Amino acid sequence: MSNTIKPLIVWDESELVDDELIERLQQQEEDIGSKIILGIDAQSEDDIRACIYEDSTFFQDQWEYMTDYLSEIMLKINPKGYECWMATVKGFGWRNSEGAKLFKAANSNELLSNVLPTYECTFHIFKEGDKLKIRNWHHDSPTGNEYYYISPIKACICCGEPVSINRKVYCDECKVNIE
Ligand SMILES: [Zn+2]
Repeated sequence: MSNTIKPLIVWDESELVDDELIERLQQQEEDIGSKIILGIDAQSEDDIRACIYEDSTFFQDQWEYMTDYLSEIMLKINPKGYECWMATVKGFGWRNSEGAKLFKAANSNELLSNVLPTYECTFHIFKEGDKLKIRNWHHDSPTGNEYYYISPIKACICCGEPVSINRKVYCDECKVNIE
């Protein structure tokens, strides 16, 4: 069953906060044990959780780890440096319909900003052969039924823009006769 396949990447802010909370609570225990802080000064779980949510550095670091890893995966899938991709969406997406989009992305931040909605999302990224699949949750898609499929495609050898048909190497704009 496809939903038992583990995602390579999970971006879920509440999960990140839960994991960090466990670590910070353990650290606090240790600090009390070694008398670095006094038990009376210990922060409550709610206080620590609130601190993490306010810690923008924490989220920036986590985002960087995640996007570094995704950039590595992109390079494996699309190693020729074309940086051209096609994304299709099922379940929601651009203009509320199914559709395809061609775009250039040299790194994972560019890829994600081309594909995902700009508001806060939780997503899982899977690698299926040389395709990426992203399952996305957000306020308009609370059950996570929005799926993106992203494939590497070729670049026009004239202008470098993405071309949709695999074997074609010239785009419609350049209208170069290949024969
Ligand atoms: Zn072209």
